Amino acid sequence: MEKILLKNLDKPDAHKIENYIQYGGYKAFESALKLKPDNIIQMVKDSGLRGRGGAGFSTGLKWSFIPKDPTIAKYLCCNADEGEPGTFKDRGIIDNDPHLLIEGMAIACYAIGASNAYIYIRGEFAFGANRLDAAIKEAYAKGYLGKNIQGSGFNLNMYVHRGFGAYICGEETALLESIEGYRAQPRKKPPFPALAGLYGKPTVINNVETLSCIPAIIEKGPEWFSKIGPEKSPGPKIYCVSGHVKRPGLYELPMGTTARDLIYNHCGGMLTDKPLKAVIPGGVSAPMLTPKDLDTPLDFDSLAAKGSMLGSGAVVVMDESTCMVKTAYIVNRFFSHESCGKCTPCRDGTPWLTNVLRRIEHGEGKPGDVELLESLCTNIFGRTFCPLGDGAVMALRGALKNFREEFQYHIDHKRCMVSGR
Ligand code: SF4
Repeated sequence: MEKILLKNLDKPDAHKIENYIQYGGYKAFESALKLKPDNIIQMVKDSGLRGRGGAGFSTGLKWSFIPKDPTIAKYLCCNADEGEPGTFKDRGIIDNDPHLLIEGMAIACYAIGASNAYIYIRGEFAFGANRLDAAIKEAYAKGYLGKNIQGSGFNLNMYVHRGFGAYICGEETALLESIEGYRAQPRKKPPFPALAGLYGKPTVINNVETLSCIPAIIEKGPEWFSKIGPEKSPGPKIYCVSGHVKRPGLYELPMGTTARDLIYNHCGGMLTDKPLKAVIPGGVSAPMLTPKDLDTPLDFDSLAAKGSMLGSGAVVVMDESTCMVKTAYIVNRFFSHESCGKCTPCRDGTPWLTNVLRRIEHGEGKPGDVELLESLCTNIFGRTFCPLGDGAVMALRGALKNFREEFQYHIDHKRCMVSGR
């Protein structure tokens, strides 16, 4: 497949605007400025592009919810928080090809009628934030941002907003709270951000990878885009692979590539001769796949049918040496640490889960602890204010469903079934 999102990664200094333009950049934005905004929204709808941040919602449909009234201020916020463990795909674009994102954002702003755009990036990503700041400055100097862009009459300002590094800031309404200067906690929905978002104004929030698909849709057409990958979730997908494989890294492939193809062909197979035990297909909140699921296409619908999810596209591969109790403990400890504390089931439930998992892992588990974990999951799932609590439960339930005997062994024998220690 022709590369779309990572096409400039191997080219020298693609982060500089002269080179980006030389590689064909900003042509799509210039073409878009000659189209009617509604036509662009229709093109994005027709392309079938679904948000790459986790939810998989139709991007064009999301844009179409923004009111058309030109007297109302509108905003675009790019979610570059990328806090899901194992996820590093957006950084690949930001660090190496920031103008691709800026161009996608500029087209999106023109389509929805936004004159101000924010890139929300976690503060730890200082390199990427600096790259974006420099790229935005270049784009102003070349007339791709600012007033009367390319003589079109369209005005756009773009800002980088550095967050403080909390996982919850990846939740779209918490992200808005953070930009506004408040503690990052999710807002009650409705109203949805399309009607009352940043500063109470209509706002679109899209992820980096999603917005970076936009220039190609304008340049090559929605039909071309819709023919890549499966009919219901077309387009390219960046899978970021880590764990026990020979070649971890970023792989841009058609959406719907199977886990087997990704691991054994693109990533060169397992790191050692130890066989594969489990794969997390979309960030640590996505329930694990096991070897029997390896032919599952990694796309929104196929993974949902398997009881998992594509999430952020972070694929974590684990071989037989991995203790699933320890994995579940580490993952849960992360969610517990990142709970924003707004609602009781998550604020109190995730540390409780972590405490039980810790004692099982440390050989201090008690009879009934597996059942206690299940009961806690039941009392958290579906009862939290935002998806973080559900994510913690889904990850643990996946581990318990597939590897329950490991948890029980830890409790009964006070040691690990895998390592013997
Ligand atoms: Fe905060 Fe957790 Fe409740 Fe979400 S589920 S609002 S992160 S306490």
